[in-house]
Amino acid sequence: MKSIITALTGFAATALLWVFFRPPFGKNIVRLNTDERLVALTFDDGPSPPYTDQLLDILAKHNVKATFFMIGNRIERHPETLQRAIAEGHQIGNHSYSHPVLGFCPPSYIQREIERTDDLLRQAGVTGELVIRAPILTRFLPVAWVLAKGDRTHISCNVWSWDWTTQNPDKITETVLKKTLSSTGAGSIIVLHDGKAENKNANRSGTVKATDQIITGLKQEGYRFVRLSDVGNW
Ligand SMILES: [Zn+2]
Repeated sequence: MKSIITALTGFAATALLWVFFRPPFGKNIVRLNTDERLVALTFDDGPSPPYTDQLLDILAKHNVKATFFMIGNRIERHPETLQRAIAEGHQIGNHSYSHPVLGFCPPSYIQREIERTDDLLRQAGVTGELVIRAPILTRFLPVAWVLAKGDRTHISCNVWSWDWTTQNPDKITETVLKKTLSSTGAGSIIVLHDGKAENKNANRSGTVKATDQIITGLKQEGYRFVRLSDVGNW
């Protein structure tokens, strides 16, 4: 009997943890809904000049559109960078106001973090659906609940660049190309960082150079680059 109770308690605890960390409701997008060789480049934690501007130059050179998940308090510091990204046709998403680990915050706090950045993006002229990426991708239960309540889409990814652990451009490029080209690669969502939440002065020149190489490498394999809103249909 005791062993049955222990097993049931263990099962219940595991189920609770699973629901907290992997909530089975709300829209969470890991890949684009396509069989074509389309990929989405996404950049988190900006705006962060001069690196965001350097990235915009590279994207323009290759005629590629991307999606930037921006932090509200960085937008307040660098509104001109957001304006440039909008003017050049990139999609802008919400990456919270101050980049806390939202998954461990109460719902009212999560709501406020999202709304403040929504307001900044709307005031800057961003139109259409405002997609969200939770900081550190912590779409845990309270985050999923707040997003589901507002019928909002959370954008995760299937390709990590690991550019927060290294700024060696060749390493970042290798990691991204290897992961994207494995299996079919269709519809991959790639995460890179034009800023660093914990350090506004962090150097992102490795990410900038890697982005140039990644675009060249994927184009050679016949991939095209899209914004998340170009595919949608989730
Ligand atoms: Zn982030």
